[in-house]
Amino acid sequence: MSFEVKDKDLLGRIGKLKTKTATVETPLLFPVINPSIQPVSPKRLNQEFGFEAVITNAYILKKRYQSKPIEQGLHKFLDFDGAVMTDSGAYQILIYGNVEVTQAEIVEYQERIGSDIATILDIPTGWKITRDQAAKTVDETLRRAKEFFKTKTRDDILWVGPVQGGRHLDLVAKSAVKMSRLPFQIHALGSPTEIMESYRFDVLVDMIMTAKINLPIERPLHLFGAGHPAMLSLAVALGCDLFDSAAYALYARENRYMTENGTWRLSELDYFPCPCPKCRGAKPNDVLAMAAKEREVFLAEHNLYACKAELDRVKQAIRDGRLWEHVEMRAHAHPALLSAVKKLKVYEDFIEKYSPSVKRRGLFFLDSASLARPEVVHFRTQLRENYSPPKPAKTLLLSPQTRDKPFHKAREYQKMRRFFRKLDPERRERVHICFYDAPFGVIPVELDEVYPLSQHETAYPFDRETSEYVAGQVADYIKRSAYTSVVFLHDPQNWDNIVRNAARKACFAKRIPFESINLNVKRQKAILTRLEIILKKA
Ligand SMILES: [Zn+2]
Repeated sequence: MSFEVKDKDLLGRIGKLKTKTATVETPLLFPVINPSIQPVSPKRLNQEFGFEAVITNAYILKKRYQSKPIEQGLHKFLDFDGAVMTDSGAYQILIYGNVEVTQAEIVEYQERIGSDIATILDIPTGWKITRDQAAKTVDETLRRAKEFFKTKTRDDILWVGPVQGGRHLDLVAKSAVKMSRLPFQIHALGSPTEIMESYRFDVLVDMIMTAKINLPIERPLHLFGAGHPAMLSLAVALGCDLFDSAAYALYARENRYMTENGTWRLSELDYFPCPCPKCRGAKPNDVLAMAAKEREVFLAEHNLYACKAELDRVKQAIRDGRLWEHVEMRAHAHPALLSAVKKLKVYEDFIEKYSPSVKRRGLFFLDSASLARPEVVHFRTQLRENYSPPKPAKTLLLSPQTRDKPFHKAREYQKMRRFFRKLDPERRERVHICFYDAPFGVIPVELDEVYPLSQHETAYPFDRETSEYVAGQVADYIKRSAYTSVVFLHDPQNWDNIVRNAARKACFAKRIPFESINLNVKRQKAILTRLEIILKKA
């Protein structure tokens, strides 16, 4: 296998991809090279910017340079030492409707120039076409994929099998299932560019996830035409390993300045929000005054630094187990990105299945969007399927989460802890203490040191969806357990009535007694006296 995963978080992974020329690290961004109008040379991309791979278009090379790249070899022709991927002309089909080359010709050409990673001549689906037309692009791409395996001659090239279907998810699923039966080393998701240009990142989530669910998880996935730093972490989190982007150069030509929070027109900027070698010490006005060509190179270089810096941040986030936090941070730069993060709820089970459940660091919960995180889904499933309360426990005591953790050692819980220590053992074991917690729901006291139940920080006050989620978890827990009474310690300072009401309703439905005690720090003694009376009764 040419792809080896070293580390992962969510569906994102740091991996080693071995090509015939170089071993490169994923997630990997291939800057698009157009040899005739290239603002930054491929050699500098590698040596100064640290890009390990580039992509160029075999169709354009063939048309413009014919046999020159064959004679020199692709790497020498481009003067690039790293891995070189070639696209086949599919993008030109999308733009111009057709290309003057057959698949057999472009496959042979890629073999002769010596690409490391090469692509069949697929038919991109695009955005504004009918379902019937979309179905035709899927079928024709599949036909060509099968035909390709009869004609290819080189086995040292990694071949890409593109998945088409556009926004028609059933077609994407069909395309992915059938493509995965063919022995491609890499898959790619076609034509998301128009979707990204119209800011439909929620649709992009659907497309990527549909492809991902139906493709072999161990094969790398390339997202064609994507690589803007604002959306990179989202796509990586969904399991895209490879990206290519011409945006750095195209935007530069239009005086557009890329950042991890979006794109700015140069004329809108009074300051450069970037510490890269180009921007350090430079002023937007001075760059505006440059000659067109000089300005284009300046912006292309800054854009490349911006892409590379974000790629490195995303990799570090995977190492730290903080990719979710990173995606959320980026999502707050634009409503369309936040909509996409909210869409992850639909795919939470699949994401959880392939995410590591134990990490090196604690988790930050900012708001209800975090409820789809794999750790929350994992704990909910484990509690429901693999947990039963201690046998002698008759009374469920629900206590609010504490700011210090683990809960049972927290300062806020000290008096309660002493109270229980003083109870006679027989009575104590009839009471089962659980904490209600945002976002984990119900945490039995004996589990509160299990990762990540003590290793998370939550933003107060909780939003309504988070309270409702916890309320649902509490009600569900009461419903499926065998307690004969429930005592609820209500914390009016941090929780509204949603959780208490849900607990009361669940007890009413089971016809078991429900008692609620309002926690008020000034009346600690009265609270404990009341608790003692209630427990005696139970
Ligand atoms: Zn910069």
